[in-house]
Amino acid sequence: MIKKIISCAVVAAVLTACSTVSMTGRKQLNLVSESEILSASLTEYQSYMKTAKVSTDANATAIVKNVAQRIAAAAEAYLTVTGQTADLQNYAWEFNLTQDDNLNAFCMPGGKIVVYSGMLKLIGNGADRDDELAAVIGHEVGHAIAKHGQERASQQLLQQMGGSVLGAVMGGASAQTQQAIATAYGMGTQYGALLPFSRKHELEADYIGIVLATIAGYDADAAITLWQKMEAASGGANPAPFMSTHPSSTKRISELQKAIPKVKAEYGNVSQPATTTATKTTTKKAATASTKKGTGFKIG
Ligand SMILES: [Zn+2]
Repeated sequence: MIKKIISCAVVAAVLTACSTVSMTGRKQLNLVSESEILSASLTEYQSYMKTAKVSTDANATAIVKNVAQRIAAAAEAYLTVTGQTADLQNYAWEFNLTQDDNLNAFCMPGGKIVVYSGMLKLIGNGADRDDELAAVIGHEVGHAIAKHGQERASQQLLQQMGGSVLGAVMGGASAQTQQAIATAYGMGTQYGALLPFSRKHELEADYIGIVLATIAGYDADAAITLWQKMEAASGGANPAPFMSTHPSSTKRISELQKAIPKVKAEYGNVSQPATTTATKTTTKKAATASTKKGTGFKIG
């Protein structure tokens, strides 16, 4: 009987701990508080930056910072117009280019964005350089704003703690929660080489990435050429951390090809506000009021 009561309480607690990824409408489990995830990820980010070699290439750094600022501004605009203003306070954006030949990039919860020089090298200096970089950074910021880290830590917590998860939900910060966050991010062992996200998370981040890139004024088609370059570079045998092993790049490309025309139609004329906390730089598009049919996406 007692066991039954506990399991019902757990179910009830878990149900109330569900949230929704607004850009895709998917329900997700969230047992980890914002403050816990932010403080744990900030610590890990600071540790990474202490050991990382920050790029001394001023030109390349400026390229990354410019694109990252615009994607961050698009993310803030999106959160604002969709009423998720409470989440805005969680972001204190930082943009970095680190000297590392690996094909990788990440965005920690709280908006700490890092692009590895290897990724920039792969993209090259063609006309679509910034568009492809926007696809990379948009994807990483997509993981952050969809709170994939919290979700993964929550799943970890549920697995670790089973029936006593209620204690974690009700009790706030705990050693178990900290451990779950650390495990979910692969922190402490492989800085900057976070555990691959699930197939579902990767596809969702791909989608959010092209939405953010489009809002920021970049050409979402560049996500396709980026993945083609990634596929060619990895040779299929040893995928880069950014790619993860699942889903395959063929699957990602076909999903992107389906989504891009719809995203362009839906978000293509949406402009960013002139100023956000993320950037004061001039954006490609003027800040004009715009309402997109079907999305409730309005900026003014
Ligand atoms: Zn990813």
